[in-house]
Amino acid sequence: MSDSTRKGTLEARNLVKDFRLRSGLKFSMLHAVKDVSFAIEQGRTIALVGESGSGKSTIARMIAKLEHPTSGTVLLDGAPSATGGKGLEAYRREVQMVFQDPFASLNPFHTIAHHIERPIRIHNPGLSGPDVRMRAAQLLDRVQLSPASKFADRRPHELSGGQRQRVAIARALAPGARFIVADEPVSMLDVSIRLGVLNLLADLQRQDGLGVLYITHDLATARHFSDEILVMFRGDIVERGDADDVILNARHEYTRQLREAAA
Ligand code: ADP
Ligand code: MG
Repeated sequence: MSDSTRKGTLEARNLVKDFRLRSGLKFSMLHAVKDVSFAIEQGRTIALVGESGSGKSTIARMIAKLEHPTSGTVLLDGAPSATGGKGLEAYRREVQMVFQDPFASLNPFHTIAHHIERPIRIHNPGLSGPDVRMRAAQLLDRVQLSPASKFADRRPHELSGGQRQRVAIARALAPGARFIVADEPVSMLDVSIRLGVLNLLADLQRQDGLGVLYITHDLATARHFSDEILVMFRGDIVERGDADDVILNARHEYTRQLREAAA
């Protein structure tokens, strides 16, 4: 049963992921994600911070339903999310992923307009052609690719890295996303354009009520752009809380190291 008080939340409850590794004839178990719980509300940003290999992307993939947890549950609006059929389709529409590499969610053969119009058309079958195009243009404007007409007919490789990531964000929003899992969304971009893309995500969160899981190993941007920080270390969340508090009163050794590196 869905709990109406949890409307507008995306929750990870006791997520565990083990990978069975093989080396020669020997098998071993890697506990990539140990027992991770947290909730994101719409209109808020939570940062998941941790060193490479700590389990961040595995969590992202489980939340985006690209990977099954070994155990644990993902709940949307308080209800366990579907594992197949129409329920899963609806879930994937509302919980979208933005990858480190913008090309990961873009098709090199398709125009920018096609990337945005297609999900709008699929999810709004009653909409007329001109209305679909108008909505797509509005979305491109929303991610600051304006005038939209300048970008509509181009293909992904004809844009800069930052513009491509903006298209990937618009593509995620097009089917009506309420939550975005952004897995190191700016770490492949030039330093000079990173803040622009992070500011865009922040605007979408504040003005449009998007819930954002911002995955990064950069404590400084995590602090600036999130309401809450979760620090991961070897599959566990070792520290969590208000962004300033986690940084100023870091208890775990790893958080202290991160803070020193960022200072
Ligand atoms: P992060 O995103 O924090 O760098 P990942 O979630 O990608 O970490 O990886 C966590 C751990 O799980 C790493 O040790 C990684 O090698 C391992 N891992 C991730 N995906 C797989 C997989 N499909 N098979 C085996 N091991 C994996
Ligand atoms: Mg990763």
